[in-house]
Amino acid sequence: MVLKSLDSRLDLKNFDLSELEAWLKELGEPGYRARQLFQAIYAQGQQDITAISTLPKSLRYMLTENAFISSFSPEEVLKSADGTVKFLFRLDDNKRIESVLIPQAGYYTLCVSTQVGCAQGCRFCLTGKMGFKRHLETAEIVNQILYARAHLPQPWPLRNIVFMGMGESLHNFQHTLKAIQIILHPLGLNFSHRRVTVSTVGLVPQMLKMSEAANISWAISLHAPDNQTRNFLVPVNKKYPLDALLEAMKRMPLPPRKRFTIEYVLLKEVNSTLKHAHALAKLLKNLPVKINLIPFNPHPGSEFQAPSWELVLQFQEVLQKYGYTVTIRQSKGADIGAACGQLDGQPQAA
Ligand code: SF4
Repeated sequence: MVLKSLDSRLDLKNFDLSELEAWLKELGEPGYRARQLFQAIYAQGQQDITAISTLPKSLRYMLTENAFISSFSPEEVLKSADGTVKFLFRLDDNKRIESVLIPQAGYYTLCVSTQVGCAQGCRFCLTGKMGFKRHLETAEIVNQILYARAHLPQPWPLRNIVFMGMGESLHNFQHTLKAIQIILHPLGLNFSHRRVTVSTVGLVPQMLKMSEAANISWAISLHAPDNQTRNFLVPVNKKYPLDALLEAMKRMPLPPRKRFTIEYVLLKEVNSTLKHAHALAKLLKNLPVKINLIPFNPHPGSEFQAPSWELVLQFQEVLQKYGYTVTIRQSKGADIGAACGQLDGQPQAA
């Protein structure tokens, strides 16, 4: 739960560095004090203002009068047989969010949430079924990372941050961008831009805006090769249909050798026939993409099923014959409800 005071003090984790500099300047402090404070919070993980020894005592006192540093501790931690860990956090208003820590070859990837619930209503997604409750604040996004970084089960680095947890991150544009700035800043969490991935169902104006504001990696949740199927699976397609989405991808600046990841959940008899594979290959022609196929992870009450493994491999093969790099995501953490599309913010014990 967020340790947040009930008074009017400000949570310092809701500031990016430029905002911290502006705020301290208003209080008569030079810019380098903001950098010291920022570094203490993120690089050193400091949670107690009075213990920040790089700041003079008078400033520490003044800060504690006006501000605090929030932190998270999970309400529940679930461990999968495959090593995946799901953290359930209860927020100040008793709403819940989840983050998923995924072990890979000698390092970890953390999947973070940006909203409680989600407004996009993708048909195959449990979070979408919750509906939209609220956006997370910047502090609530970065606290997921700070908690996970401090509680890694193995002595491996936390290397990747993916915005693929609960919510559509670009719908919560302002707080997602501020969190990204903190994650990438050398005095902040100091992640490489190659290691931070924003996933979107295709909010076209926000994609263009974010690509100008931050140098990050992109995952586009496509899930269908034609508008009819996509309208059914991903309702936002009615607002931003495939041609608008692909046009936006062409306009987004990508550094050399960088490609979009196309996320494609495979649903039996809905979007996973070989006809769909050929249509997908033709749709993405000439775009800098790699394709990640995700056999559907069932959840209670779901109307969909995964196709057979044989069909998944055939789907992959068709795309590979067109020259695409195609991976199949072996979703981890399905036994603890932590796999793609399974996050619902409910404790296991409930
Ligand atoms: S798939 Fe992503 S965007 Fe779609 S409903 Fe689920 S959380 Fe929201």
